[in-house]
Amino acid sequence: MEVKRFGGGCSVFGVWGISDAARLCYFGLHSLQHRGQDGAGIVVSHKGKLKGRNGLGLLTDVFKDEGHINGLKGEAAIGHVRYGTAESNEMKNIQPFLFEFHDEEMALAHNGNLTNATTLRKELEDEGAIFSSHSDAEILMHLIRRSEKETLIERIKESLNKVKGAFSYLILTPTEMIGALDPNSFRPLSLGQLSNGAYMLVSETCALDVTGAKLIRSVEPGEIIIINKDGYQIETYTKDTMISIDSMEYIYFARPDSDIAGVNVHTARKNMGRTLAAEAPASADVVVGVPNSSLSAASGYAEKSGIPYEMGLVKNQYIARTFIRPTQELRELGVRMKLSAVSGVVKGKKVVIVDDSIVRGTTSKHIIQLLREAGAVEVHVRVASPPFRYPSFYGIDVEDRKELIAAAHSVEEIREIIGADSLEFLSVTGMIDSIGLTFDSPYNGLCMAYFTGEYPTPLYDYE
Ligand code: 5GP
Ligand code: MG
Repeated sequence: MEVKRFGGGCSVFGVWGISDAARLCYFGLHSLQHRGQDGAGIVVSHKGKLKGRNGLGLLTDVFKDEGHINGLKGEAAIGHVRYGTAESNEMKNIQPFLFEFHDEEMALAHNGNLTNATTLRKELEDEGAIFSSHSDAEILMHLIRRSEKETLIERIKESLNKVKGAFSYLILTPTEMIGALDPNSFRPLSLGQLSNGAYMLVSETCALDVTGAKLIRSVEPGEIIIINKDGYQIETYTKDTMISIDSMEYIYFARPDSDIAGVNVHTARKNMGRTLAAEAPASADVVVGVPNSSLSAASGYAEKSGIPYEMGLVKNQYIARTFIRPTQELRELGVRMKLSAVSGVVKGKKVVIVDDSIVRGTTSKHIIQLLREAGAVEVHVRVASPPFRYPSFYGIDVEDRKELIAAAHSVEEIREIIGADSLEFLSVTGMIDSIGLTFDSPYNGLCMAYFTGEYPTPLYDYE
């Protein structure tokens, strides 16, 4: 079966109960921009009507004039930043989606990836539904509209039980903001509150800190949160839950200042670096991290190994994440523009590079070349996650095993391909212990499918 996956990593931000909600949403989304750079949008609610603006590119591209935010007057807002794949980078897929029905208006934003989207879409189309995008978000809206339950919340709950996979949804109506999280909580979602009483639902806690809000609590698997003039209410749409937070959030995706399930991301990464130093020591003069995502792990490696930490690589801060570039050619060019070696640091030195993960191997190979050209005499690579062997179906842009260097090659072969003097990875148990979740679920509550091939849910359309 041909597999199409849209929706990606992405991020959602919602606020309810403050004047100029769009501006707060803009600031919040800005702190979540690392989760997707392909599109952005905001929908506000004002006097019983919804209104929105969205577009392709970075948030600052979409809202480049003061008038763009001023034009969105409202007391509640939901926003989205989008991480798409090559074929899905079109205007029609940019969220939030705004639906105007004869009897109600609703806006919807989605972070994650459904595993039964193809099946649901076909069923809905066979019944006459017409889709205008490739997005999974539209599927949920069709289900909500078709549900025969009485209240909107009952209709949403019924629909949430039909979609499978990874999702955190935000829905805005003229009178309510509703959030929902999948039964495994693959993606993070948190509830917070501003000092004026306004409530927020955000993909990462850094968006609460940036906007001056306090965390109330993480949303739990299978929960639906309803926010309206009476405050917030937490209900469940299913009891059939099993916590399985995507380990890639801790490894790479989330911002270091965010907490997921009460665990700070920087601290988790630093612990992974410490454990890596214990499991895979290297004889070297300096420890160098790959900016920015590996810096936390590299500091842990340096601390534990006693080898001094140095800034041997610098990053051009004006280049978006290389991964997001859809073709291999563009990806390679992206890496060259992004990183440079600091010759004064590495010349004549034995260097140990700490990286957060190796996916295709493009980045590591290039970094090793750079360091050798800059005069490093030995380059040892230590990776703060296990070999990435199995694809993701829960919203990270890697679903083809052919793309994964560790799927087809042994560690020794990868070492050879990337040109390192030595190469070692963090173990699965080392990673679980370093992150330190304590849920009564497999792998203490982490989704480790990338490394073990054990998917915590059926894969439906991907099977
Ligand atoms: P590659 O080995 O494919 O050249 O690149 C791997 C690097 O890309 C990682 O070290 C990480 O910093 C970065 N990266 C960007 N997006 C992702 C992602 O979605 N997952 C992972 N694991 N790494 C990513
Ligand atoms: Mg990296």
